[in-house]
Amino acid sequence: MERTCGNGTLRKSDAGKKVTLIGWVAKRRNLGSLVFIDLRDRSGIVQVTFDETMAEKVKDVRNEYILQVKGTVTERGQANPKLETGEIEVLAEEVTIVNRAETAPIDISDDTATNEDTRLKYRYLDLRRPSLQKIMMLRHRVCMTARRVLDEKGFVEIETPILARSTPEGARDYLVPSRIYNGRFWALPQSPQIYKQLLMIAGMEKYFQIARCFRDEDLRADRQPEFTQIDIEMSFGDEDTIFGVVEDLMKAIFKDTIGYDLEDRFVRIPYAECIRRFGSDKPDLRFGNEIQDLTPLFENTEFQVFRSVIDNGGLISALHFENCADKYSRKTIDKLQDFVKHGFKAKALAWLKMENGALAGSVAKPLSETEKQAVIEKLNMKDNDIVFIIADSMKVANAALGALRVRLAKELGLVEEGVYKFLWVTDFPMFEYSEEEDRWVAAHHPFTAIKEEDLDKLFSDPEHVSSRAYDLVLNGYELLSGSIRIHDQDLQEKVFEAIGLTMEKAKERFGFFLDAFRYGTPPHGGVGIGLERLVMVLAGTDNIRDVVAFPTTNSSLDLMSEAPNVVDQAQLDILGIKLAEDNKE
Ligand code: ASP
Repeated sequence: MERTCGNGTLRKSDAGKKVTLIGWVAKRRNLGSLVFIDLRDRSGIVQVTFDETMAEKVKDVRNEYILQVKGTVTERGQANPKLETGEIEVLAEEVTIVNRAETAPIDISDDTATNEDTRLKYRYLDLRRPSLQKIMMLRHRVCMTARRVLDEKGFVEIETPILARSTPEGARDYLVPSRIYNGRFWALPQSPQIYKQLLMIAGMEKYFQIARCFRDEDLRADRQPEFTQIDIEMSFGDEDTIFGVVEDLMKAIFKDTIGYDLEDRFVRIPYAECIRRFGSDKPDLRFGNEIQDLTPLFENTEFQVFRSVIDNGGLISALHFENCADKYSRKTIDKLQDFVKHGFKAKALAWLKMENGALAGSVAKPLSETEKQAVIEKLNMKDNDIVFIIADSMKVANAALGALRVRLAKELGLVEEGVYKFLWVTDFPMFEYSEEEDRWVAAHHPFTAIKEEDLDKLFSDPEHVSSRAYDLVLNGYELLSGSIRIHDQDLQEKVFEAIGLTMEKAKERFGFFLDAFRYGTPPHGGVGIGLERLVMVLAGTDNIRDVVAFPTTNSSLDLMSEAPNVVDQAQLDILGIKLAEDNKE
């Protein structure tokens, strides 16, 4: 079918041109004998005007009909600032009704009034909304740029199995029963981790894949059961080499998609320092207000609350915000109290305001003049400044203030929009204690290399073993994880042992992988970049479903196809599966 251009591409400079357009009717209005139709295609919306002679031909046309229109681009008397094409309209000279449509069950517009569940049920209509179409195209551009840049750098795109053996990334597996081997199961990959490492052993040197990953995790608002990673692995490099590849990739992606110039190299902060300064391993660097450790100011305090916290090895930590104390009434501060107490188990939130050169507030009385003066000097406090203080264990104080820092910055409008602050967080702890399983588990995954200097603590002090794992953080989001991997079979076996996997168990689970290590494994490392996260940031949305064509709901249901669905007993029979009585629907 003939068309000369996309509807959304027309501008004032096209005035006078004859065009042929195709599109869906987004809106129609009658004004006396004139009919105005907003015609939508993938590139956007343009207004088409049908005069008296043409109006008759579209009298039955309704929303979502498909029309082909021939006409002339004309400058409008009054521009419509809401449309990118708002300075022009197209005067229709010929029209063909290409197809009719029933009344749509949802409102197909960017300011749609239809609730999300109904839109998800009719996702194919929801996807007609220009904002969603733009995001789909943005996602495509990200992938194309990734392919181009990685190809230029010598990376080879290789697909790894979807029907695979379970790879441990810390979540539950989605299992697929085998028909040929009843009683055996495939696992959908949580990531291509083992396969990409095997590709390094296979000598492929530089691999990438835009890989679908599946994790059966507990329901959470920002999760989808399947998601995509730009998965990268390379041999013979170290952190510097891998960070360089990712930085170049990000620069190209930001330039190609939103025309933004990123800085050449990204900041690096080790995990422990990051927690100390920001109370988080994914800090938003678009604003300062770092956590301040005031403990040394209170070494000799007689204020009982601070005294006992310090004596028990805790911290007196603070957040300082300038020139906003008047915005924090007692009532507002009470809400912040609830936030740190209920969300982070902090015992209390103390506060001090600077008023006429002196400190007032919840702990102004019990603190000595010298202590208050020390606070003023350390933080360089001025009138109308406020400081929030938490006296607690290091863990609680950091977590609570880390979250409070973000909340206050948002409330106070300190978060700069349209700015992208990247940060590498390095030297993550190798292990974390799982209360649930009552043992140390790998914080990233068990193939992560350990810092040379911490090797002797592997069994004696696992808590303080640092790894060569890193994250890339952008504006408070974790954009990717990765690590330099272990390439030494003995060390790999020891790490399994440290997380309580006997050699027998480890061999049973990844014997093939351990075997492969024996035949010349190159030093290697890589990353998995969360594609959805990246697109969310670029598109400026915090709804993950906006960046996935056919997403599931927060409760892991596809409302459109109604998957997961009940299947026939006959299908189960060939798989050798019997449902428990109470699972039958
Ligand atoms: N497989 C890791 C993940 O999914 C990424 C990596 O270490 O390359 O987080």
